[in-house]
Amino acid sequence: MKSPPTVGQRDKVVHVSALNEYVYCPRRFYYQRYHDEIGTPYELVDGRSKHQNQSNRGGWITERYFRADELKLHGKIDLIESEGGVFTPVERKRSESGQYYPSDEVQLTGYCMLLEAALNEPVNVGYIYLYSTDERHAVRITDRHRRTVREIITRIEEMSVGSIPPLTDNPEKCEACSAREYCMPAETARLEPEKAAGTGWEDEI
Ligand code: SF4
Repeated sequence: MKSPPTVGQRDKVVHVSALNEYVYCPRRFYYQRYHDEIGTPYELVDGRSKHQNQSNRGGWITERYFRADELKLHGKIDLIESEGGVFTPVERKRSESGQYYPSDEVQLTGYCMLLEAALNEPVNVGYIYLYSTDERHAVRITDRHRRTVREIITRIEEMSVGSIPPLTDNPEKCEACSAREYCMPAETARLEPEKAAGTGWEDEI
């Protein structure tokens, strides 16, 4: 009989939401992964409740978990649109700015890759729905998107607790970052300027 996976084995499969976290800031992902002391961001809680409100509409498949060991990826797709035998994942975002980000595209690509592994056929389009504008954006999933997902999975696999990623190259991200109190970007840049070298924080001090 096959033994159940150990924690270490499970860690080799990356959750799709981790792709988004990693693209936002690898350092924040590090703190979430290894320190596990970060409160759930408001945006996530708010987004979840909105997901629940919309999960009963007809014609959609909701909350399906997928796992593809060959991709080293797993995750739950909250919403899949099914029309004429074509299945399209929909990623819903709160985004007050009225736009979506590269990290959202990467996350959506992860869902498309999981779905195509399950269906054994290409899934070349996904949708990003923004609550703030009530608009749905079609994203064409290219090989470049898929390559990016594979590269991020490799980088996540190579992470270790002893090696903290550098500060972000975009200090604006730090303003809303849930890991800020652990990361202390301004203090780090001021007290250990060598750690800010080559990052967006280099010019902030
Ligand atoms: S505070 Fe800034 S550099 Fe630090 S983890 Fe958050 S986004 Fe990254």
